[in-house]
Amino acid sequence: MNNLRNIGTVFGIIIILQIALGGSSLFYLNSIAKDAENLYQHPYAVSNASRNVNINLISMHRYMKDVVLAENEIQLRTAKKYVEQYEKKVQENFNIIFNRYLGDQKDIQIVYNAFLDWKTIRDEVIFLKTQGKNKDAAHITKNKGAEHVAFLNQETQKLIDFADNKAKTFFNNAVKSKNNALSVITSLFIVTVLSSIFIAFYSLKRLRKAQQEIKSRMYLIDQNILMAKFDKNGVVLDISNKLCRFLGSSKKEIIGKKSHFFIDSKASDIQPEDILITASTGTSWKGELCIRTSHHHLKWIYSTIHPELDENYNVCSYSNIIQDISDRKAIEELSITDPLTKLYNRRYFDQALEKELRLAARNKNTVTLAIIDIDYFKKYNDNYGHPAGYQALIQIAQVFSQCLKRPNDYVFRLGGEEFGFIFSGFDREQTLHFLDHIKIKVEKLNITHCDSTIGDYMTISIGAHTSCCHNRLNNNELYIKADEALYQAKLKRNDVIVTNQAKF
Ligand code: GH3
Ligand code: MG
Ligand code: MG
Repeated sequence: MNNLRNIGTVFGIIIILQIALGGSSLFYLNSIAKDAENLYQHPYAVSNASRNVNINLISMHRYMKDVVLAENEIQLRTAKKYVEQYEKKVQENFNIIFNRYLGDQKDIQIVYNAFLDWKTIRDEVIFLKTQGKNKDAAHITKNKGAEHVAFLNQETQKLIDFADNKAKTFFNNAVKSKNNALSVITSLFIVTVLSSIFIAFYSLKRLRKAQQEIKSRMYLIDQNILMAKFDKNGVVLDISNKLCRFLGSSKKEIIGKKSHFFIDSKASDIQPEDILITASTGTSWKGELCIRTSHHHLKWIYSTIHPELDENYNVCSYSNIIQDISDRKAIEELSITDPLTKLYNRRYFDQALEKELRLAARNKNTVTLAIIDIDYFKKYNDNYGHPAGYQALIQIAQVFSQCLKRPNDYVFRLGGEEFGFIFSGFDREQTLHFLDHIKIKVEKLNITHCDSTIGDYMTISIGAHTSCCHNRLNNNELYIKADEALYQAKLKRNDVIVTNQAKF
């Protein structure tokens, strides 16, 4: 976070520097342009106009001489006309000077007044000439007139000098602006370039550090988290070393193979295809799975499979994050296991029965609950002792476990010498045949029971009820039906009674 803020600050400084660079370039260019414009508009124009005033004054004065020397009316009129023409030009240039002069207007007024005074002299000369007083006219022109023109030239020169000085000031200002621009822009440019280089190096350094941090985090994940990634067909694309160790395999052995290689279908009632079907719809799949490691150990995991989407929101791969829940499962297993027979205990019975009833309803299947009771077990205990009774219970339990091996078969020790079976898919006749077979197998254990009134060996009685798929019974109802059947079996002993829905 701090790094980002630092980079942001440096970027901010670079942007400010660039704005300053552009702003100062604009400022100095503007000021140079203004000086150039001022130079053209004022000193240059005033200097030109003043020089024109001087030239036109001289021309005026020369034509005044023609006025004096005119020998007839036409020559006089022509000369007068030229004088007026140059006077007019002088007046025009004075207008420019009045407009553009940057000094004190009084300076111009002095020269202009002198020009007006000259007009009085000119009028006097023309008057004398028209009166035929040529000598007086010539005298005034040569002396007073010439002196006045000289004075005018001299005063106009002052305006020219002022304008020239002003021009120099503007020029100097422009040069100064140029030099300032050069030093300011150059320094800003250097600072901007240096900051950019700094930020480039700094960013690279940060980037490299961030990459290293990511690598070390990836390493931590790889070593400590059970996770794998697989493609949409379930082929493993990547797997963490922690999961490899957990499975007892190497990456080489796992990558490129179908991910369901580790699912042991006997222990998990979930098929990998079902998981993929769920996850392929874009939703996560979470659940408990039983896996078989390469050393053939069964382990329980809690798996969270997240689908990963491509840019078109199609599922392209899956990530699987796994928790090892084997210990928890072992404790759970222990809590539902009868310690003597290793069969499921009564605690698990209700849960399993409800689950199987639900599953059978979904699959439109039958469910059978059988209750098994050992005949004359009290007598056996009394005669052979409790340790022998325990031993007999263990042996009979083993027979039951061997006979009920399908994934959805359950064997319970419901208490004392009473057991329970839950299995599905059999009708009444199949059930009867199956349970009869078990009954015979127990008898064939040949556990001597001399106090039994129905034989030499230990026997069992079985009462069962097969719930049909049309008329569903709940847990209790099914239990009661099975118990009723057991009661009937007990009337005879070493017997199997199976009832079903149709019968009642
Ligand atoms: P029935 O044929 O009518 O079933 O007669 P039974 O003697 O088997 O039935 P009852 O319910 O009268 O007696 C059950 C006997 O089972 C009582 C007890 O001595 C014995 N029993 C119950 N639990 C255990 C156990 O955990 N270990 C041993 N050794 N015996 C047990
Ligand atoms: Mg009993
Ligand atoms: Mg009994």
